[in-house]
Amino acid sequence: MAKRDYYEILGLSKNTSDEEIKKAYRKLAIKYHPDKNPEDKVAEEKFKEAAEAYEVLSNSEKRQRYNQFGHAGLGGSAGGGFGGGGMNMDDIFSQFGDIFGGAFGGGGGRSSGRRVNRGTNLRVKVKLNLQDIANGVEKKIKVNKHISCKTCSGTGAKNRQYDTCRTCNGTGAITRIQQTILGAMQTQSACNSCGGEGRIIKDKCNTCRGDGIIREEEVININIPGGVADGMQLSMSGKGNAAARGGINGDLLIVIEEEEHPFLKREGNHLIYYLNIGFPDAAIGTTVEIPTVDAKAKIKIDPGTQSGKVLRLKGKGLPDVNSYSKGDLLVEISIYTPTHLSAEEKKILEQLKESKNFEPNPSKKEKGFFDRMKDYFD
Ligand SMILES: [Zn+2]
Ligand SMILES: [Zn+2]
Repeated sequence: MAKRDYYEILGLSKNTSDEEIKKAYRKLAIKYHPDKNPEDKVAEEKFKEAAEAYEVLSNSEKRQRYNQFGHAGLGGSAGGGFGGGGMNMDDIFSQFGDIFGGAFGGGGGRSSGRRVNRGTNLRVKVKLNLQDIANGVEKKIKVNKHISCKTCSGTGAKNRQYDTCRTCNGTGAITRIQQTILGAMQTQSACNSCGGEGRIIKDKCNTCRGDGIIREEEVININIPGGVADGMQLSMSGKGNAAARGGINGDLLIVIEEEEHPFLKREGNHLIYYLNIGFPDAAIGTTVEIPTVDAKAKIKIDPGTQSGKVLRLKGKGLPDVNSYSKGDLLVEISIYTPTHLSAEEKKILEQLKESKNFEPNPSKKEKGFFDRMKDYFD
């Protein structure tokens, strides 16, 4: 895929000032920052794209070459040591972390050259019944996760004592000069000896053995909104595993599992109840009690009710997870035909058969018939 124009990415024209470039990048970087857009691949790509554009345009030498030759002028590794594949997150934070200027907890104040650790996401399953889903529910769950070590405040260092890294002389970054067709290029990457921190722990913390994290069980309260559905994933930012030696916590991902209700079937936000009534009740009419999510409801069956008729109890379904609307409870009626008859019952029915009122009316199409037939064709 062809690369987009760097000025276009930042929404700027070619003869823009350095200050404008920095401002435009800062705006985009904050907008698409991973802390603000967890699990969002599109935002991540935009975040990287903007960083790559800024990486080139904020460097007067690279910018000049880009203006003259376009992307080709930066070709291959000359594009700043990141190859043609753009920048990765660590590169971005280590090089431009300070541009966020405190806009994010972990984003600002990162010393330049420092690699940022990120804790892994935790995934838990939560089983909910229909009542939980209808009303929303608060669940307490126990998770075994990495938390920041309290002894060393997550630094991994005993008594918080450090030595300056000798490889990078405390800068956290290694600078290399590369020879390219277009001349010498200076590239910078995080120091491998100290992981970009510029310092090395003197003695490791005894509690966490220098990792800055320990495993512990934590009880987390999760507020689950009404209307969630099986397979849905909720995310609690920063409630996942803590990162080694300070950094950004991972997220807690909550996967919803739905228990089946013994009588009510879910269809989106609607609930369906299949009501089977006797033939006399269907003919004469009656009142029956049916289950709802929280209680019971009485419904009237009109005289002459046909099999397949659907009664709608408005708003007795489930809430919509994204709005204030509510689904309905649909009661689909079917009429029970007796399978055993006494001699006397049979005699009565034989007599009724003769009545004109008992002749079926084929012109009246049974409502709900096609819906039920669908099951046979699936
Ligand atoms: Zn170092
Ligand atoms: Zn520790």
